[in-house]
Amino acid sequence: MDLKGFLTEYVSHRSVSSDGALESGMAGARGHLMAFFKELSIDAKEIKIGKHAVIFAKTEQVAGRPTILVYGHYDVQPADDVDLWDSAPFVLTERNGRLYGRGVSDNKGCHASILAAVHGMVTAGKKLPVNLKFVLEGEEEIGSCSMPQFLIQMKDELAADFALVADTWSLDESNIVITTALRGIVGCEVELTGQSRDLHSAYGGCILNPIQALVDMCSALHAEDGFVNIPGFYDGVTCPSDWEREQVRRLPMDDGKMRELLGVKWFKLPDARFSAAETMRFLPTLEFNGIEGGFQGEGIKTIIPRCASAKITCRLVPDQSAEKIQRLLSETLEKLCPKEMSLFMKFEQAVNPYFFDVANCASETLRHAMGIVNGAVRDVFGATPLYLREGGSIGLVTELKEILGIDSLLIGLSTAQDNIHAPNESIAISMLEKGRKFFELFFSRL
Ligand SMILES: [Zn+2]
Repeated sequence: MDLKGFLTEYVSHRSVSSDGALESGMAGARGHLMAFFKELSIDAKEIKIGKHAVIFAKTEQVAGRPTILVYGHYDVQPADDVDLWDSAPFVLTERNGRLYGRGVSDNKGCHASILAAVHGMVTAGKKLPVNLKFVLEGEEEIGSCSMPQFLIQMKDELAADFALVADTWSLDESNIVITTALRGIVGCEVELTGQSRDLHSAYGGCILNPIQALVDMCSALHAEDGFVNIPGFYDGVTCPSDWEREQVRRLPMDDGKMRELLGVKWFKLPDARFSAAETMRFLPTLEFNGIEGGFQGEGIKTIIPRCASAKITCRLVPDQSAEKIQRLLSETLEKLCPKEMSLFMKFEQAVNPYFFDVANCASETLRHAMGIVNGAVRDVFGATPLYLREGGSIGLVTELKEILGIDSLLIGLSTAQDNIHAPNESIAISMLEKGRKFFELFFSRL
């Protein structure tokens, strides 16, 4: 299959899931995928539960073979910042060995390299050595909101030994990363109201200011050393094993280099035993994402504002429970709230952390597959992969585990150079081609 040709059309479909005016781009991308499966006589259908249909396809299922659920998403981020692009975002353009276009790395190119591997095997007349099921969704960039319902509804049809997901990061082509864990997340909006209206600050001195009270509450959520100051918050946090720390040490980046990359002057590390690279992988967090209150206009307005609000999110690590952290955070905020004020909390985005225990995973097929991955990555990319926990969250991977009971093999083909979600998104042609070769090798060795 001509990967560049495939992507030229795929990228030209403006499949921006958040933009209601681009429904035809979503349909175009689905049509392109459906045509791909039709050409290979692979059974495929569109299943619509939420806003944008999921493409579900499956090859002929033969008993006794490993069954793999391939996940990807055909929707992309908006490209409203056209002026900042060096070439039109929806016209695939080649420059210096890279392909440029919205979605070419996240995620069209990455799952296209799996499709290309399948295409190569089928058209060469080889029998596919594995049973494949494809789930290509169109709502990833808007939070995969219908996926839990899709997984529940399709549970029997989706049964597989494990999932294969190419939607994470690697460092570069010779440092491929297999992601072994994802942090969970709990989000909360907090609003603190003092009195019924904004008051002239001439009344000040005898009235508790909601901004001050909210800041006091927020600052009480961390201890001075940087640890989260919520009783029970760290219950269940598991210590990383020695081999995991060893993998982090293989990263060709020390804390100094990382500070430079992130543009921060220093790292505040709560636990001196962990470097920054370890802290963001092994420890949970509580962060303030936004804070608002009072007068924000030009100049000065002398008021005591009626209310103040903040947005807080926690990143969770294995084996914390999102539900429990939500409860503890809510109880702590209630306790910290001055009794004269009213507190309103809105919780959203509760996702449990995900951990894939490479050494002890339950599926024998997946254990076998992991051995093959190691060798195939070495043969194609030149070095064995790094097995790393990731600081971010992918709710879908947790749902695959919780609803379907399967682990995910997360192999990253995107790199930091790809500028995903930003202008001039791109991917190296060599990465796509190596990806195709890797998946072909992986499937045939399985
Ligand atoms: Zn994305």
